[in-house]
Amino acid sequence: MRANPWETAQAQLQKAAQSLSLDPLLLARLSQPDRVVEVSLPLRMDDGSVRVFSGFRVQHNNIRGPYKGGTRYHLDVDMDEVKALALWMTFKTALIDIPFGGGKGGITVDPKKLSATELERLTREYVRRLAPVIGPNIDVPGPDLNAGSTIMQLIRDEYSLVVGSDTPAVVTGKPLNKGGSEGRTEATGLGGSFALDEILRLRSVSGKGKTVAIQGFGNVGSYLARYLQKAGYKVVAFSDSKSAVFSGKGFNDIDSLEAFKKEHGSFLGYPAAKAIRNDEILTLSVDIVVPAALENAITADVAKQVKASVVLEMANGPTTPEAEEILRANNVTVIPDILANSGGVAVSYFEWFQNRRDERWTKAEVFKKLEKKMRAASDAVFRTARERGVTLRDAAYIVAIERLASE
Ligand code: NAD
Repeated sequence: MRANPWETAQAQLQKAAQSLSLDPLLLARLSQPDRVVEVSLPLRMDDGSVRVFSGFRVQHNNIRGPYKGGTRYHLDVDMDEVKALALWMTFKTALIDIPFGGGKGGITVDPKKLSATELERLTREYVRRLAPVIGPNIDVPGPDLNAGSTIMQLIRDEYSLVVGSDTPAVVTGKPLNKGGSEGRTEATGLGGSFALDEILRLRSVSGKGKTVAIQGFGNVGSYLARYLQKAGYKVVAFSDSKSAVFSGKGFNDIDSLEAFKKEHGSFLGYPAAKAIRNDEILTLSVDIVVPAALENAITADVAKQVKASVVLEMANGPTTPEAEEILRANNVTVIPDILANSGGVAVSYFEWFQNRRDERWTKAEVFKKLEKKMRAASDAVFRTARERGVTLRDAAYIVAIERLASE
């Protein structure tokens, strides 16, 4: 059975709160979302039939600023998943120190089974239902699984139609020529590479030659791979939902791997790489493993077999609480999701900021600001973990909660 991400998120919050003398009112507020919205989305399909989809938006907390969080199109989307993801956003935005709170949304749908026009109608319907509760100063959606820049542009367009004025800052992750920011596509992967680099640097460890296995080869996994490879790490294994491959020499040409996957639909048959079982990816004998696909990838069973000394959590909630205990007992360092993947929301904030000021920053400027944010957050987490003798995850929550408490 799938572990419940909302229970995981709750357990993480309660554990971190225990080590702080937190105002019970603040803890009560953080333990539940401020507002949950569930919408019914009837859709006329291209063949004339009617189907009804469920959509969600959870506004977890806005102590530090407007609710902020992605929009996920996936069959696994349900209220508990969206609530968990919204809670993680509250802590992520506080940790990376941007003036946003936490929110999340999604539709329970397999978008690959819909035509482009059906997907557009579904998205517009979702926006019309949410329009009363979102907006640049209220709640700012962004991209997530299966909902990229095209969907974000639709959200901007429909919201602007509803309110009667063009409102680019209602959503982030838009295409570059439609108010998007330079560097948003690369941001989460690049941010993860900065977080890993900073944590290793603070431990006086070099990343050069360290072997890495990455689960998931989407936006996050593929860009992380590129930046790690550029920084001298040896990325030796990848998986996606259908296949997994290993190369002892390391993959040096991530663009060609991506082109191969696009052409053939999977990694199978990629030259000079050996096919491995999909479920082996996180238990390979490598230095660093990276879950960059879905939640709950590291269960207790997987954790017992992890041989790496570092887990870089690029997906949200990839480690169950039982697995976390096992990894801690085995001295495996977990760089937690709310730190590792916060580069995405950092650049989303930069996009919102540029939209509101009518500015356009260069990619170099965006990357420089991103690096500064990622290294500062990583330093704060590392220092807190050391001072309090807690894991990096507990430290990340503590830093975030202290910032929320000081508002
Ligand atoms: P994506 O849709 O671009 O890619 C997801 C990848 O995971 C695909 O390669 C898919 O084949 C693979 N996958 C799915 N099921 C799998 C399985 N069982 N085993 C191995 N691979 C599997 O999504 P993304 O934007 O790269 O996001 C990945 C994760 O990172 C998600 O958990 C997301 O919430 C998180 N995240 C994304 C961002 C962002 O900016 N995109 C920011 C923060 C967190």
